[in-house]
Amino acid sequence: MKIIAYGIRDDERPYLEEWSQDQGIEVKAVSELLDESTVDLAKGYDGAVVYQQKPYTAAVLDRLAADGITNLSLRNVGVDNVDADAVKRNGFKVTNVPAYSPEAIAEFTVSQLMQLLRRAPTFARKQAHGDLRWAPDIADELNSMTVGVVATGRIGRAAMKIYQGFGAKVIAYDVFHNPELEKQGIYVDTLDELYAQADVISLHAPATKDNNHMLNDESFGKMKDGVWILNPARGALIDTDALIRALDSGKVAGAALDVYEDEVGIFNADFGSFDAIPDERLKNLLKRENVLVSPHIAFYTRTAVKNMVQFALNNNKQLIETGKAENEVAF
Ligand code: NAD
Repeated sequence: MKIIAYGIRDDERPYLEEWSQDQGIEVKAVSELLDESTVDLAKGYDGAVVYQQKPYTAAVLDRLAADGITNLSLRNVGVDNVDADAVKRNGFKVTNVPAYSPEAIAEFTVSQLMQLLRRAPTFARKQAHGDLRWAPDIADELNSMTVGVVATGRIGRAAMKIYQGFGAKVIAYDVFHNPELEKQGIYVDTLDELYAQADVISLHAPATKDNNHMLNDESFGKMKDGVWILNPARGALIDTDALIRALDSGKVAGAALDVYEDEVGIFNADFGSFDAIPDERLKNLLKRENVLVSPHIAFYTRTAVKNMVQFALNNNKQLIETGKAENEVAF
């Protein structure tokens, strides 16, 4: 059995080599992404492991199938950039890694909130200029707050545990109710109820066609004055212009954003200087001391990267050996 792995970064390579040695299976790692210029590198392999934001086009998948490779294992969750018709037409088996470390995202989200509540960016700026005074930057305490968790999937539930550990009251909204949480009486029936009660709103829902810009002028209007907004989920959940208006008016006290609706091509790129970042709206947010923008790094831990690589390789091995895998995605 031989597997090719595309788009392998330096931080992934040790985990790939560890798996290859443990399993005694040859894995060829290439740094290039899978596209029309690199697809022929897969000739002679039994399966391919991949991860990219760039589309897996029909042309690429047709060529891969023509070369005899129809076992494709993604190292991430989302499969929206995979051409579904080409998958079905060529009989591809596709797997993803549905959960690599929900705790990584949950821990990051809460730590960002704590930075905001304790005015950490402001104190860092003051201290860099020799100003060691306290006032006027008085902080808030999480233990006396109500946190509204939107979506109680793996990440939402991991975040809830941490909020509860801090002593916060947690309420939640989800289109699907988790039976265990239902018993604890944590759910509210509508988003409007959550908006009305929450001091902190923690978003953990996937982006769907129904929740695009769910936080907009109207929903901000339904929230408490001075609410804190956390979005480590998907940029499309927030109307960025409406958020900027709500920050300007003070309706929103602050926000931690690990995602941004126009992040593709901007996050995980080096522009050389702050001024060269080619997005004025993003720079507006980045300049604010009550907003923490991070470039989609909540998942980026050693544990998560190891799991993304090794779970995907396990999936690919299962496909090659049995034609099935537990993380197979239906198209
Ligand atoms: P999950 O599949 O375990 O849970 C998703 C939950 O969202 C489910 O309970 C579902 O019922 C609920 N849901 C779906 N649509 C909803 C809606 N319109 N309103 C309310 N709830 C809704 O997913 P997860 O592993 O917890 O991941 C959640 C999201 O986090 C992902 O979809 C992804 O967008 C994001 N994410 C971000 C990072 C990062 O690095 N920042 C990493 C991984 C995932």
